[in-house]
Amino acid sequence: MTSTDPGERVALFRDAYARVIERIAGASARVGRDPANVTLLAVSKSLAPDGLRAAVDAGLTLFGENRVQAGIAKAAEVPGARWQLIGPLQGNKVGKALDVFEAIQTVDSVGLAERIDRLVAEARPRVRYPILLQVNVDDDPAKAGFQPAALEAAMGPLAAFERLEVQGLMTIGRLAADPESARGTFRRLRDLSETLRGRAAAIGPALSMGMTDDFELAVEEGATIIRVGRALFGERRPD
Ligand SMILES: *Cc1c(COP(=O)(O)O)cnc(C)c1O
Repeated sequence: MTSTDPGERVALFRDAYARVIERIAGASARVGRDPANVTLLAVSKSLAPDGLRAAVDAGLTLFGENRVQAGIAKAAEVPGARWQLIGPLQGNKVGKALDVFEAIQTVDSVGLAERIDRLVAEARPRVRYPILLQVNVDDDPAKAGFQPAALEAAMGPLAAFERLEVQGLMTIGRLAADPESARGTFRRLRDLSETLRGRAAAIGPALSMGMTDDFELAVEEGATIIRVGRALFGERRPD
């Protein structure tokens, strides 16, 4: 993103947003889904607060950040935005995360869920706090998340947390040269969700899967939340 003129930036984001919406509609139509059942989470980790304010002006309101501290800093400077956490969460940051994020998509252990449940009582009494369970569908040693086989055993303990609403499952697909190979990952997450729900697990139907390179495949395979960064905001500069 080289443009610094705020008006021009809003126009770029608005166009990119419209194209992503069109592609969601196209993918939905291919499989007979209603595109209204796909939530676009705009992944804003590459944007500073001025870029985020332009994104809000372009009509985006729901943002994903992968670091607690960055989310807190940006939220203070970007009115009108809602935030979800899509990166790893350490136990000692849960309280802070609850102050800013309306949902945590990356719950990867019963211990973390237990801690969120306990702190929600202080931070957000009277609500059931939405979480997704991150699943390492491909058993990738580099990725966080429940192993699929471990998830079923975790369902009992998770159901006992009265202040949590387990809305569904989330996965980060493998970095695949061929996007079609991501399809298998998405299918496995959906199958896992259906299996668990078929056994009356206390878990909702949400499926958070798909990013810039493969969100259309994810929509075709049943994603209800896609997490898109680069297709909206441009390529990230290498760190
Ligand atoms: C960065 C990130 C995304 C978005 O990736 P893009 O390729 O920019 O769309 C989605 N999910 C997670 C967990 C991320 O960290």
